[in-house]
Amino acid sequence: MSDILYVVIPCYKEEEVLPETSKRMKVKMESLISQGKISEKSRVMFVNDGSTDRTWEIIQKLHSEDKLFSGVDLSRNRGHQNALLAGLMTAKNWADMVISMDADLQDDINAIDAMVDKYYEGCDVVYGVRSSRATDTFFKKFTAEAFYKLMKLMGANIVFNHADYRLMSKRALEGLAQFGEVNLFLRGIVPEIGYPSGIVEYERAERFAGESKYPLKKMLSFAFDGITSFSIKPIRLIIDLGSLICILSVIFLVYSIVVKISGGSVAGWSSLMASIWLIGGIQLLSIGVIGEYIGKMYKETKHRPRFIIKSVINEVE
Ligand code: UDP
Ligand code: MG
Repeated sequence: MSDILYVVIPCYKEEEVLPETSKRMKVKMESLISQGKISEKSRVMFVNDGSTDRTWEIIQKLHSEDKLFSGVDLSRNRGHQNALLAGLMTAKNWADMVISMDADLQDDINAIDAMVDKYYEGCDVVYGVRSSRATDTFFKKFTAEAFYKLMKLMGANIVFNHADYRLMSKRALEGLAQFGEVNLFLRGIVPEIGYPSGIVEYERAERFAGESKYPLKKMLSFAFDGITSFSIKPIRLIIDLGSLICILSVIFLVYSIVVKISGGSVAGWSSLMASIWLIGGIQLLSIGVIGEYIGKMYKETKHRPRFIIKSVINEVE
């Protein structure tokens, strides 16, 4: 008896790609089932993240035509990470292993075979890692790589060049379910769960159709969230900077006294202005960073739901 695989795919306004994605997924799942690698109770679970286009209608139609496809409909748009979590938490009720991937076919679905193999070898988490970024625009490549480097520098433990294409076993998902944080950054949380893990390399393709739902603004806020929900290093940096400036100002004080005693001129207006601006800027920046953490705590203490599921369509048998 082989294990049940659920493939969770968050979708936000993906009407252009869903027909193709579902077609390719069907071929892949059927081949895995016929090879006996996964149970015929396996499903492809689409999560509709409050799309305003025909995405949910398409998912419902797919489900009514073929029980391989199931769907989760969220109450409104909650963003990729929350939609993914909603799918993972729903799928774990029935699945032995769950693979998460994007709807736009950028993640090579042929890597699924290797992921499932690793699962049977005993890995609870299998990370899909991009072998190259040849198909990315220079801008995307540059920002993405800068993001990983910055994350590492700031002390967040994430797998290099791994997005959210990964396999997780049921017990890894049970572990994930125990992380109650509202500021969700799955890439950072998953390595924290522990258990044996493995890596599968794949080539990332270009988006099959439609536009990226991650414009620069979302990307920046995602990176900032990632850093501030995983490390308090930015606060430490502020403390270091503060101490450095204190030491410098003492040295400056001594220097100005020496100049005064030796009969030099009064300290100039420009240097005074410059230092006021510098200190003011640093203070504002520091308050901003500290405010960010306080804002995070505020959000966490409210314990608001991370997603609300409107309906689930799935034929379990
Ligand atoms: N997505 C989502 N909710 C959102 C934005 C995106 O569920 O608010 C989904 C989207 O449908 C896709 C995945 O997240 O399946 C990744 O988005 P996209 O391909 O636009 O990002 P990129 O690959 O450009 O980083
Ligand atoms: Mg994409």
